[in-house]
Amino acid sequence: MDTITALLSGALEEVRPLTDGATASYIPELAEADPDQLALSVVGPRGRVRSVGDEDAEFTIQSMSKPFVLALALVEHGRDAVFAKVGAEPSGEPFNAISLEQNTGRPANPLINAGAIATTALIGGDDLDARTGRIVELLSAFAGRSLWVDESVYASESLTGDRNRALAHLMRSYGIIDVPVELAVETYFRQCALLVTVRDLAVMASTLAFGGWNPVTGERVVSEAVARDVLSIMASCGMYDYSGQWLLRVGLPAKSGVSGGILAVAPSQFGVAAFSPRLDGYGNSVRAVAVVERLSERLGMHLLEPHENLAAPTVSVDSSPDGRTIRLSGELGFAGTERVLAILRDLAGSIPAGSTVTLDVRELARTHPAALAALEGEFNALPLGLRLQT
Ligand code: GLN
Repeated sequence: MDTITALLSGALEEVRPLTDGATASYIPELAEADPDQLALSVVGPRGRVRSVGDEDAEFTIQSMSKPFVLALALVEHGRDAVFAKVGAEPSGEPFNAISLEQNTGRPANPLINAGAIATTALIGGDDLDARTGRIVELLSAFAGRSLWVDESVYASESLTGDRNRALAHLMRSYGIIDVPVELAVETYFRQCALLVTVRDLAVMASTLAFGGWNPVTGERVVSEAVARDVLSIMASCGMYDYSGQWLLRVGLPAKSGVSGGILAVAPSQFGVAAFSPRLDGYGNSVRAVAVVERLSERLGMHLLEPHENLAAPTVSVDSSPDGRTIRLSGELGFAGTERVLAILRDLAGSIPAGSTVTLDVRELARTHPAALAALEGEFNALPLGLRLQT
């Protein structure tokens, strides 16, 4: 067992004794889940998947489908059109609350049920099959394999989904939903009933972590802009009325579902998913919350803590008879320009008069335009014979 897998396994065993909470029972079929199941999976930048516990256990995706259907709505309609129908604010209320803006009927955000039904209603297609087909296709690309609907969970939710139907009726009365209520909610119920494993969820999370590019299949699934929008909403709204606490303790965009799964995203680092069916009072899995919290702490994943290498390019310096060449590779962000300039200033003091310094930026994988402009400006002001290779 490699070191990271051992670390995952250790964290999993630490949370195994937690047996608080209960499986969701308002969807009868979910109450049947084996409450002792427990699994954790992490996917890194090269697409390596590490999973421990009940990694093959299948369960329905439930609310963890919502960020990905938001991604599809953004792809189909663009940001302005989507957020005209649904807000971008944490509701501070449970997932199934009647959280609609006064006068407009706009739901608070796309990750509570009301907002998710409104988002689902935006997906194009003539009928239930066509609409579900588009959703399944995109979610499968995020997961890197074809996903299927669990027909019995779908039927169970459809039979008992009156609260979601009521939300849809209210939103239709405000013009937030402009397709028939049954079409909107049945599409939503089918998306929630897609079967996944903890591994699938970790791959889906990793695709968001790497800017919409699936590190397992190598496929670009959505644009960086769409992935960033989805993560922004997950950061503030993904854990319902526990979202603020979650950001405080774990510091990662995340999404939970009533089947007991949680997926979390450490941008540029990992996609993470955990699964265990017993839920707390917020509708979040007790053990999944606990294990992701431990991981974030141990792997240093909190988004808001300082990261030494953030946007710092790798710098190498070559000397030749006619001068020095400074080669930059990796990412050049604003903080990175400071470091490169410090190296240049040191060089300015030590190289013989008349020789040139070449700054070669052709190997940079990612450059933020303002950072390059700042570097260029400062570079030209230095008392050196300088050449910039772009
Ligand atoms: N399908 C579930 C519902 O609409 C999803 C809720 C959830 O996972 N929080 O009630």
